[in-house]
This record gives sequence, structure tokens and C-alpha cells, in this order.
Amino acid sequence: MNTFNKSIFTILVLFIGFLSVNVNGAQYNNPEEKYLTVYFFDVGQGDATLLVGPDFTILIDAGRHDRNNVEPYLRQIGIEEIDLLIGTHPHADHIGQFPRIIDQFTIGEIWMSGDIHTTRTFERTIDAIEEHNLPYYEPRAGETFNYGSAFIEVIHPQYVNGDLNDGSIVTRITYGEIVFLFTGDAELRAEDEMVHGDMDIGAHILKMGHHGSRTSSSYQFLNAVNPEIAIYSAGIGNSYNHPHPDVINRVKSMGITIYGTDINGSVIVKTDGIIYETAVTSSDVTADHLFLHFSADNYCGEIVCQDGFVCHQGGCFRPVNCEENPDLCNEENDPLCVDVECAEGTVCYEGSCLIDCNQLPDACI
Ligand SMILES: [Zn+2]
Repeated sequence: MNTFNKSIFTILVLFIGFLSVNVNGAQYNNPEEKYLTVYFFDVGQGDATLLVGPDFTILIDAGRHDRNNVEPYLRQIGIEEIDLLIGTHPHADHIGQFPRIIDQFTIGEIWMSGDIHTTRTFERTIDAIEEHNLPYYEPRAGETFNYGSAFIEVIHPQYVNGDLNDGSIVTRITYGEIVFLFTGDAELRAEDEMVHGDMDIGAHILKMGHHGSRTSSSYQFLNAVNPEIAIYSAGIGNSYNHPHPDVINRVKSMGITIYGTDINGSVIVKTDGIIYETAVTSSDVTADHLFLHFSADNYCGEIVCQDGFVCHQGGCFRPVNCEENPDLCNEENDPLCVDVECAEGTVCYEGSCLIDCNQLPDACI
């Protein structure tokens, strides 16, 4: 089954299941409950990836130091607590907004690579960790962890030596049967170590190293990971010329589907642990335009629904006439919001909990 067919299948399972529960009169609380959703946020020239599962929340990196775009994404999704915050390495395009995230959210544990840096961003991050007395750990290759239903294998580094990129924490995260590999800014030397190490680095979805730079994503590494999907994070028109065309061509020539945040906006992968779907949010809006960015129609571009169903917000569902079936809708005549409970400061809109600008005006600037 190719990715496109997987997408349709997953979405139909999700929404048909949701509707049948409602028709039977049972309580419907959270359609995402059994799913892992991975958000590869468009944060410009930087990295921020959020994993939201039924019993775990993991944030890998948090964007650039000169932006404030990660907290709004998290607020929009309704995140209040992060079980595990991973700083792959201390560069300011990865831990840039850590001080703010640590201040604003309840963090269970933080992992850093162990390399140190002389920047103000790094100092402020360490200060925030100390101020909040966060459990701190420097994981090493070969260690494994269970975070709820997520299984985390640390693939790299074995040790750090001051080369910040090649010291990146690389994690292989398995949910059900679906495997993700997150590589930070690991470059060729680190890739070579992983290829020749004794750990399985195969993955369905690869977060490409170092923003698609040609200092990463060697043929040998891609071949060993053998992903179906590869995703890089890079800013439009960035001064580093990331991603490199050679890398893009290499990935495409290997038959791997590629997404980039500069082209596709935030990229979302959702899985039930057996199959997965992908969605891209936009190509022409910046990360600052959050509500546009996650607007419904952007999810439906490549989705074809079967007869009797329509695509809305990336899902195929039967249209509901709220006047005839008021119990299937909320008071705003929104069937996607019936029985959805949103956290304080957010309101349900078309099935998602969005920031309520009346309650949180600062979050809507
Ligand atoms: Zn970077």
C-alpha cells in the first residue's frame, strides 16, 4: 500500500469510527486518543518537532532564539505539559526558545547532548533548567526508554567531543509498528558511526540531519535507514542554502517521499501504530500566521474521499445536518466539536482546540 492509499485508509478509519460512536450515543472525548501525531513545525531556519501520543508528549528542539513561534504552536494544539524535552545539541536554532518553553510549560525531564556552548542562549537555557530544578540527563547510544506507549532508543552519540552537530542526540522512536528517526544536526561522521554501529537505524519516517545540508544524509545512511518519508526543516531563502539540491536529488532518486518546511509549511504525520498519514499545512504563509497555517483546506489537498463523505481538515466524514441532528453538534453548530473539551484559554473550532484570543490576547499578537 503506498503512502497515499495509507492516508485515505487511516483517515477513514479515524472519522468513521468517531461518527459511529456518536450515533450510538456514547461519549466522544478525544478522536486523537489512540494516535501519535508528530508535528514537524515550520519554525523558519531551525528545528522543532512535537510528538503527541495518547500517554506521552515529547518536544525535540524548540526553534530559533530570535523568534517566538514554538509556544504559540503548542498552545494552539492544547499542550500544557511536556514529558520529555530533548535539546539535540546546543545551537541556537535548536534550543533557541528553550528558556521560554521551560518557563511556560510543565516539563517532566530534559535531555541535552552534554556539549556546552558559549552563547547567551545556552546560558539562559542552563539557567532555566536550574531555576525550575528540572530533571536533567545526557543520554548515550544504546540506552532505551519507555515513555508511555513510546519506545525510545538512543542511537547517538556514544560520547561528545565539542563538535556540536556531530554530538547531536539521535533518537529512534517506535509507536506500535511505526518507527521515526530524529537526527538533529548529525553530519557525515555521526552518520557513519550509526551506519557501522550495532543498532538498527531503520525507520519509516526520517527527520533529515542538519536542515537538508550536504554535510548530512549520505547515500549509505539513507540506505541504512531506508525510510519511506524524509522530512527536513529549513527556512525559506535561508543564507545557508539549505537544503542542498544534491541531497534532495539523492533522496528523490532513492524513491523516498520528501517534505520540507520551507516548501510545505509544518508537516504532520499521524499514526495509529500500524499505518500512518501525512499532511502538509501550507507553502506560502509564515509560521507567524498560525491559524491560516493550520487552516482546514490545507489538509485536504491530496485527499479524495469515498462517496457520501467530504474532506474537511484532513479527514473524510459524513456531513451532519445540525438542525436535524442537534445532538451530533455543539452549540455553535459544529459537529466536529461535539463533546470536545478544550483546555482553559482555548476554544473548539472545527474539531481542534485553538487559542481563544479573548482570553489570551498576548498569545494572538
Ligand atoms: Zn541546526
